[in-house]
Amino acid sequence: MSWTTVVGLEIHAQMATQTKMFCACRRGSSTSPNESICPVCVGWPGALPVLQSEAIRCAIRAALCLHCDIQEFSRFDRKNYFYPDLPKGYQISQFYRPYALGGVIPFEREDGSPAELPLVRIHMEEDAGKSVHESDGTSRIDLNRCSSPLLEIVSEPLPMTGKEAASCVRSVRDLLRWVGVCDGDMEKGNLRCDVNVSVMPAESSEYGTRTELKNLNSFVSIERSVLVESARQIEVLTGGGEIRQETRLWDQDREITESMRGKEDSPDYRYFPEPDLPVVQIGSQDVEEQRAALPEMPEIRLSRWLNDYGFPQLETVPLMARRANGDYLEEVIQAGADPSSASNWFRGEILRHLNDRSEKIEDFPVKAAELAALIAAVKEDRLSGGRAKSLLQEALSPAVSLKSLIEDAGSQEQDSDALAEWVDQVMQENPDAIAKIRAGDMKPMGFLMGQIMKLSSGQAHPKKVQELIRSRLS
Ligand code: ADP
Ligand code: MG
Ligand code: ZN
Repeated sequence: MSWTTVVGLEIHAQMATQTKMFCACRRGSSTSPNESICPVCVGWPGALPVLQSEAIRCAIRAALCLHCDIQEFSRFDRKNYFYPDLPKGYQISQFYRPYALGGVIPFEREDGSPAELPLVRIHMEEDAGKSVHESDGTSRIDLNRCSSPLLEIVSEPLPMTGKEAASCVRSVRDLLRWVGVCDGDMEKGNLRCDVNVSVMPAESSEYGTRTELKNLNSFVSIERSVLVESARQIEVLTGGGEIRQETRLWDQDREITESMRGKEDSPDYRYFPEPDLPVVQIGSQDVEEQRAALPEMPEIRLSRWLNDYGFPQLETVPLMARRANGDYLEEVIQAGADPSSASNWFRGEILRHLNDRSEKIEDFPVKAAELAALIAAVKEDRLSGGRAKSLLQEALSPAVSLKSLIEDAGSQEQDSDALAEWVDQVMQENPDAIAKIRAGDMKPMGFLMGQIMKLSSGQAHPKKVQELIRSRLS
């Protein structure tokens, strides 16, 4: 018998706002525990939350890029439960009236075809703190994360594979990063995902009982856990057993899922409207303001690049991975570099340096205009490609300016003794080749060039080398 796996996602994205959701405390990584807290975010009785407008603006942008229906009126509710890192005893969330309904996650099927995972809703909620379990058995509580603004993106269930589930989460990550809503680092926990999995006989149209998988902190975990959990469910069902609706933990090292607890139902949380916060109203003007503030979206940038710059589709993959990479490339082109050289330099040299330095393009020491000047120097034959690459490398040291390197190198190369030495050495070492050329057979020319380039480690300027050989022979 063959089986179909059905997956539904619950994605938590921490919004990249300056402050927390209901107070002015700083959000994000702090240097020491419990340093970014106040009576509101740790829930002292009587302290009143105030919804920060930046969180709303971020939430609207998220809903726009996932094509949701933004609700004019939404509301917060209290989700009541006890946990040591939740000092209030409840989490402020949106249960009855979420701010966004519907929408889709675009993703790629395993065969490469495009598909869409429909969304049920997106709601805003606050994060809890963190429990840190030490190896000596003590546990510590860090409340810095308390009340950080989260979006919970809930999808419909859809038949798909583990790889496709990972593709969905990657797509959400890329989109939210693109519009500046979430940093999207799964390892750092600012993007988290619970995956619901069920299986059904391939000919059936009725979805089976699902389990919810937690502790997935990478795309690989998502892919593997769906595979492993559906295999487990199929084994239970073919053995005549039943699937229990429950929450299971993914163990990455052992590659198994383990039962954690029975599924809690919503009545267990005693949801009720949050009395300390007013109804949220999002007017069409608020939505339009955010729409206007959206950057050029990936599909639009991609088609512009394919059409206007003539980039081959495959080349655009590394360029599209982060919006900031593409922004930099655009700046290089705007500063006068031709698109295809700019793309070659970016994909070859810049990405390699970024990788070696584990750095983001925003922090890269060589600015776009400087790279454009380097590309121009190569194009105008003031520098050889190899020389230009080593200048770029040099310019990565602090306090070295690429601009002055280009100027110095350009004038040096004009009358370089080194060039003459390389040419003379190679000519002396290859009398046969020289004799052939003198006899009118130009074929060995390429060989000589190759030797000179090798001797100069790519520094010699090909055009100048050629001129020099010719003048020595005439
Ligand atoms: P609850 O309110 O109990 O959490 P929901 O209906 O909101 O239940 O579903 C939670 C998640 O489970 C959603 O992401 C949904 O897509 C997913 N889900 C629901 N039914 C199934 C199923 N049969 N198989 C896989 N996932 C499912
Ligand atoms: Mg849930
Ligand atoms: Zn606070």
